[in-house]
Amino acid sequence: MSQARQVAIVTGSSRGIGRTIALELARRGMSIVVNYHSSESEAQGVASEVCALGVDALCLQANVADPDQARGLVEQVHAQWGRVDVMVNNAGITRDKTLRKLTDDDWLQVINTNLGSVYYCTTAVMPIMIEQNYGRIINISSYVGQAGNFGQANYGASKGGIIAFTKTAALELARYGITVNAIAPGFTETEMLSKVSAEVQEKIRARIPMGRFGKPQEVAKVVAFIATDADYITGQQINVNGGVYM
Ligand code: NAP
Repeated sequence: MSQARQVAIVTGSSRGIGRTIALELARRGMSIVVNYHSSESEAQGVASEVCALGVDALCLQANVADPDQARGLVEQVHAQWGRVDVMVNNAGITRDKTLRKLTDDDWLQVINTNLGSVYYCTTAVMPIMIEQNYGRIINISSYVGQAGNFGQANYGASKGGIIAFTKTAALELARYGITVNAIAPGFTETEMLSKVSAEVQEKIRARIPMGRFGKPQEVAKVVAFIATDADYITGQQINVNGGVYM
């Protein structure tokens, strides 16, 4: 299949890791759907950067925590471009609190945004990929879904859930030429990490064998490898974490 004709959707690609993944897949010649929730001007900026790389971009607002909007996003892309080859489920939020302070709303918002969206987008894209007999679904999990983290019960549950979901989806979809993998970044330099206080950041850094935080580009390159060059890899969790969890 010519990569020039491939279409990739990256949820939550207005900033951070998602933005970098969108640009990396664009560099590999894919047409890119830049999805965002509220950062419209940033998302349009990413779409312009994608176009500057010589490929097509669609900039689409959708709250992927909402099943109808997530499904609508995939339908819109299919209607416009007629195929979806790569689905990167990247959108994610944190609402960090210890369990003693966590509210039901904190729990539900994080579970639905981080894990619900993976289910909604995967099931929406599945029939298209089955018809194509080809697809690459890449779910952005986290080291916190493997190891846990103080104050992140909701986030950790959502990211651990992504890993379990990935394995089941991989089992069910392998026969249709669709691979499903999870990427588990460690602490990565984005706005999400900048919400953590400097003092806590120092404590985290001290626990990382490589002694530094990851860069979005280091995650994006692994996503691009899975999307383009990893035909016999499915159901895996691939850690990009500087050794913080082995
Ligand atoms: P970020 O800088 O906070 O960016 C989050 C992105 O998700 C934004 O583009 C945001 O769009 C989008 N988003 C949030 N809620 C959405 C929704 N309901 N619908 C559509 N888009 C939504 O975060 P990041 O650090 O790049 O994280 C990206 C992914 O990597 C997340 O899944 C995160 O859990 C995971 N991760 C991050 C780290 C880290 O240390 N940074 C480590 C491990 C895993 P708007 O701007 O429009 O709101």
